Amino acid sequence: MKCFCGAQAISERGMCETHFCEWLESTVHKTIQTYGMINEGERVLVAASGGKDSLTLLKILSQKYAVTALCIDEGIAEYREKTIEDLQRFCALYNIPLVIKTFKAEKGSTLDEKNPAHPCTTCGMWRRDIMASMAEDFDVIATGHNLDDEAQAILMNVFKNHPMRPQPLLAGNEHFTRRVKPLYFIPEPDVRRYAFIHDLVSEFTECKNAALSHRRAIQQFLERRELEHPGAKQALVKKYLAQLHLPDL
Ligand code: SF4
Repeated sequence: MKCFCGAQAISERGMCETHFCEWLESTVHKTIQTYGMINEGERVLVAASGGKDSLTLLKILSQKYAVTALCIDEGIAEYREKTIEDLQRFCALYNIPLVIKTFKAEKGSTLDEKNPAHPCTTCGMWRRDIMASMAEDFDVIATGHNLDDEAQAILMNVFKNHPMRPQPLLAGNEHFTRRVKPLYFIPEPDVRRYAFIHDLVSEFTECKNAALSHRRAIQQFLERRELEHPGAKQALVKKYLAQLHLPDL
């Protein structure tokens, strides 16, 4: 398959490397504009694990905004050490300020030491607490959730019978720092490809607790649907936005 420019296409989108990267970056900037996520001159805190999503987000945002990376080290053996190395390397290369907070220092124990029955629940709660403690120094907190993450979150909420969240892309008011998800419309395989092209991560690692999570079951279900009906995840997210009368791209 050839890209419209005549070069060899590298993705199912029929684009060469250059046009694929341009498409992804412009989609992220369009998402930011459409939803008014970040204004010029605002201080942006990027929740950065050092994985493909957060490094992709950092790379794109740092071209235009004043970003600081916040890494939260949960203390998960043979996982977080590796992603932190990638993050430190990246931040040094692009001259991005990096703050590292640990569960050990902030919560009294690592996640491994705490060994809770539902590690992802505790992990998420502690992470949100730490992020909130830093929020007042920033105008915006950006996270690297991609379209697949959001499709999973929508279904998880449906299965848990939680009310629909009113603002999937933006949250905040005069009391809380705005939270935004600029990768919202980018499918996970595209983020992975972008990270690979730019050599952002040394290896694609996964937390050992991921397999136990409720999210994993939903993810596997969605992957099967996507195989049988390509575009299923995107259709789910679009339907959700339409129900909330929120703009699509
Ligand atoms: Fe935390 Fe669960 Fe993610 Fe591991 S998979 S980093 S425990 S939320």
